[in-house]
Amino acid sequence: MTSQTNFLLLETRDTLHKWLSLVTGVLILFFSFLNVAILNQATIGAIEAIFGLLNLYFFRSAYQGKIYKWHSYMLIFSLTTTVFYAFYFADLRAGSIYWLLILPPLYCLLTGPKLGLFYTILLSIPAISILFIKSDTTDLIPYRSVLNFVLAYFLSYAICYLYETQYAKSSLLLEKMAFQDPLTGAQNRHALKLFFDDFNKDPVDPFQEEQEETRLLIIDIDLFKKVNDEFGHDVGDSVLIEMAELLRYCTDNDEIYRIGGEEFLIILKDHTSTQAFDFAEKIRKTVENTVFRTHQKNIKITVSIGIAELKKGQSFREFLRVADKNLYSAKNKGRNLVHYGAMSVTEAV
Ligand code: GH3
Ligand code: MG
Ligand code: MG
Repeated sequence: MTSQTNFLLLETRDTLHKWLSLVTGVLILFFSFLNVAILNQATIGAIEAIFGLLNLYFFRSAYQGKIYKWHSYMLIFSLTTTVFYAFYFADLRAGSIYWLLILPPLYCLLTGPKLGLFYTILLSIPAISILFIKSDTTDLIPYRSVLNFVLAYFLSYAICYLYETQYAKSSLLLEKMAFQDPLTGAQNRHALKLFFDDFNKDPVDPFQEEQEETRLLIIDIDLFKKVNDEFGHDVGDSVLIEMAELLRYCTDNDEIYRIGGEEFLIILKDHTSTQAFDFAEKIRKTVENTVFRTHQKNIKITVSIGIAELKKGQSFREFLRVADKNLYSAKNKGRNLVHYGAMSVTEAV
């Protein structure tokens, strides 16, 4: 998987951000209306109106798939100030204190467990102070209500923390199972499809003079069936594992995919055709010069490599068709070769 990015968790966070900004926006606009129309608090009402509209803007932006960090922070800020405003000014008996209990889970879910804990502790200080001051002074009520509040407030954080960390673990495991090839640890076709979808989603920047060129190498082990036939399936498996290791070593990153039995794919971002070709040659030669030692056997293999340029708007199927065509051109010319579309095939030296 592209180094531990927890897509499911991020998606959950984005969904929460989206709907929470709508709820917060509507809620704040409602308070703004109350302040302006009924309580004659024009200044506060106007400030609330700005926050309310800002949150509706965040909702619209999130709906279009654009969530920026400052949106999240402003959402947290407006939510916190609204809740504290109501808590401070309203009569304690009206129950505005209940709203404080939703803040720790929201901090935890929106900013992550660590930062969430920081906000939870930070905001507990004014909350406790206000509660202490506003409580009835008889029967040790200030201490008793603060104690109850602190327990409920931090418990709501703890429950959310447990849920969040457990969810993060299981969603990461789920992603690993869904996107990683269990034999070689390389990414699988699902992951590649995800990369394609993301690639096509990013708009072309018309002001950028030189567009980043993305190229892909399809690497197919030559006559791999023979390895299985001669040495057995287990040895074949080990060779595939070592092959993935070797590709990881050559590329120095995690953008390696196993797209078929003995077929791998590497994504080369920001590579010209010549650079991609040189890189493919380097891989071809490294494989050719490597002795795969496994099960007390020394095995030599070669690879054929097809290169294809990735163009925006190209479908996944269409791309694989072009890349496959290039790969089989290399195979047809005799294997242990690199083939790049119109570029001529270099014979192995
Ligand atoms: P070519 O040079 O034309 O690519 O020949 P090839 O033998 O590599 O290609 P072919 O498509 O005829 O055979 C691919 C072989 O890869 C057949 C299958 O036994 C083997 N293979 C596919 N997946 C696995 C796997 O997971 N483990 C092992 N050990 N072998 C596999
Ligand atoms: Mg093949
Ligand atoms: Mg093959």
